[in-house]
Amino acid sequence: FRLIPFVGNLNGARSKFANAAPSSEIVADFLRRDNKPIMKRGHLQYERLEKGIHFENLSFAYPGQVDLVLNEIDLWIPKGKSIALVGASGAGKSTMADLLPRFYDPDKGRITLDGKDLRDFDIRSVHQAMGVVSQDTFLFNNTVRYNISYGREDATEEQIVDATKRANAYEFINQLPDGLDTDIGDRGVMLSGGQRQRLAIARALLRDPDILILDEATSALDTVSERLVQQAIDELCRERTTLVIAHRLSTVQKAYQIAVMEKGQIVELGNHEELLKNQDGHYARLYNMQFSDKPKSRIVLPTNEAL
Ligand code: ADP
Ligand code: MG
Repeated sequence: FRLIPFVGNLNGARSKFANAAPSSEIVADFLRRDNKPIMKRGHLQYERLEKGIHFENLSFAYPGQVDLVLNEIDLWIPKGKSIALVGASGAGKSTMADLLPRFYDPDKGRITLDGKDLRDFDIRSVHQAMGVVSQDTFLFNNTVRYNISYGREDATEEQIVDATKRANAYEFINQLPDGLDTDIGDRGVMLSGGQRQRLAIARALLRDPDILILDEATSALDTVSERLVQQAIDELCRERTTLVIAHRLSTVQKAYQIAVMEKGQIVELGNHEELLKNQDGHYARLYNMQFSDKPKSRIVLPTNEAL
């Protein structure tokens, strides 16, 4: 995601940390890099999803641009299911993910939550119930505890520990010099990419969002980290309404449905088995091209993702 103003790159050496917490008005996950305020507010208070999220006939061009980046998208995400977006770089996956927290409004069509237009909601109430876990693991220049409990300052010790266990982060945190109170800022300990991802997942688990937006990392982790992160992600997605920009084959295979995107359109929709049946289809081509002669755990996109 390019939305978070202060990001730690997964490559530890190039990490950046935020020094100050953003105003409590705004959920940190939803600050934009340009810090532009969110557009006009609706008044409906979002509570929880009952049926699902619908991208309805949606088209979108970035402000000031002519070309449609999303073109007549129709996508239904049932409550509690994961929908995976796959496709080459530039297809429009991140833009789909950016419309859900309403960083932009569609030019045509709409997004509805249980049939109600996203624009009619007080967007802060939606953000409170939404979690983002992205490849840019977001960390404050502060303690592990602070980073995990951010946004849930009322969390008990037990809840924090439980979240770290479910995120496969408990053991490595225990081995840090001061455990949960270890400083992981610029002057603190260095964490690996996989550890940073698991902290972000622990933080999301503690917030327990109703809707999850997941942008899987494209950069490879070592095999052990990969497995620990994958388990943590599975735990996070379980029974949660999830839109995932998927780069891992395991995520794609487990998804309720896979939307294959090409040039702003959904060109195929179905689960892994269904899509593979059509050997001439887009998904089969993607699969055969990218999964067959590569390590089986990860989709390697033909071009680099623009971050
Ligand atoms: P993906 O995530 O599938 O790689 P994106 O949603 O990032 O695709 O991008 C879709 C298209 O929108 C690309 O052509 C990209 O160059 C363009 N794009 C992305 N972000 C912006 C932006 N902020 N302003 C203008 N064009 C953008
Ligand atoms: Mg992208």
